[in-house]
Amino acid sequence: MDFLKNASIKKRLWVIMCTMALMMLFGGGVGLVGIAMTDDALESTYKDSLEPTSMISKMMLLMGENRIHIILGIQDDSANPYFDVQSNSDSVHVASVIKNRDIITSIIREFQKRNLTKEEKFLAEEYTKARMLYVNDGLMPAVAALQEKDYQKTNKILLNKINPYYKTASLRADILLRKIHETARTNYEEASDRFILIRNILICSTLLGILFASISATLLIRSIVRPLNKAVIHFKRIANGNLDENISVSRQDEIGQVLSELAAMQGKLKIMIGELDRLASTDKLTGAWNRRRFEEIIETEMDRLRRYGNRLSLMILDVDHFKKINDHYGHATGDQVLVDLSNTIRSSLRSSDSLTRWGGEEFVILCPNTTLSIVSKLAERLRKKIATINFQQVESITVSFGVAECGPSETWEQWLHRADEALYLAKSGGRDQVKAVKKLSDLIEDVTTK
Ligand code: GH3
Ligand code: MG
Ligand code: MG
Repeated sequence: MDFLKNASIKKRLWVIMCTMALMMLFGGGVGLVGIAMTDDALESTYKDSLEPTSMISKMMLLMGENRIHIILGIQDDSANPYFDVQSNSDSVHVASVIKNRDIITSIIREFQKRNLTKEEKFLAEEYTKARMLYVNDGLMPAVAALQEKDYQKTNKILLNKINPYYKTASLRADILLRKIHETARTNYEEASDRFILIRNILICSTLLGILFASISATLLIRSIVRPLNKAVIHFKRIANGNLDENISVSRQDEIGQVLSELAAMQGKLKIMIGELDRLASTDKLTGAWNRRRFEEIIETEMDRLRRYGNRLSLMILDVDHFKKINDHYGHATGDQVLVDLSNTIRSSLRSSDSLTRWGGEEFVILCPNTTLSIVSKLAERLRKKIATINFQQVESITVSFGVAECGPSETWEQWLHRADEALYLAKSGGRDQVKAVKKLSDLIEDVTTK
């Protein structure tokens, strides 16, 4: 039972198919044994059909015996030079003749009951007629003459009646015998041909059955195992997190249903993972990227910078006196300000730029393919725009910016540190302004001119 539970479908199917083939082989074997037995039965039927011939032979023998009894009876004539006083008396021969005649009559009756062909029946009647003549016109008058001790008359009857009638009867018996032999032979040969045909059909059908079972087993196993293996490959791929490959469903059977459900599952999984990814990458309040996502982006962009020399700049911005807004209008209003602010920034950015909430009321904007002078202009434009926007309840806010372009051999930390330093300078320089630091603790550039 454990084998059946643990064996693969392929093995199980093979076991079933092999068992079927063995059963067919067994059935074929049993059929052949049956046919061999039929062959024996056929032979015994043949022998049985020859039984009438032994009856005829016996009758002819008895008829011959009767003829001899008449001849021996004539020997009892004392005028005969070969007269033997010791020989049987006439009465013994007469009794033997009567006895034999009755035996022949009963054999004829038995013979007539047998299943004979029309032709055989006709020949049997012809033989019976000859035998009747032999008995009525030959044997019985001879017996009567013998009883009367008229040996001359008996001899006459022997020569004129018994001998010719015996000859006729024996000729007809011979024809009948040959006919019976011929019929039995023909029947046997026909049956034998039929037997050979049936045996050959049985052998061929058994072999064809086994061949068909083997071919259909191979095709069946293939049609089940192959798509199952294909489904397993899809499952493994999905388990490894690859959801992009298309699952083609070209069958309508159970395996087709499994594949189609799998395709549906893969589609749903892709949407869910996309949503999870989005949730894990964005800030819940503002919808801007979070730090986790930023780290992924910055890695790619810095790689481009190192490989292709693409220019890369960023701005870090912080809302001025945000604490006061919270304190004055409440935390919820503060939240709304952050939402409105990030929407304003997003609507002002180029499609290649990305907005990340760095923490609290502090944001980072990454600008690929952008030099320091361009990012400075973008930051200044943004600062001015924010300063002029009317935020609900709060009316207006100001934002300080620090900008920096990444140096070719600079690390991300060094670059961010410079931008942070620029922001600090903007704050300490009176807020609501943009500052750029070209080189760490070196050249400070005032972008905002007041
Ligand atoms: P400065 O001009 O020097 O930046 O002054 P500031 O008040 O903005 O700076 P500070 O760091 O003192 O205060 C920042 C405040 O921002 C403190 C914190 O409660 C608030 N804050 C941080 N995150 C959130 C937020 O998600 N929602 C709200 N409503 N307030 C936040
Ligand atoms: Mg602040
Ligand atoms: Mg701050």
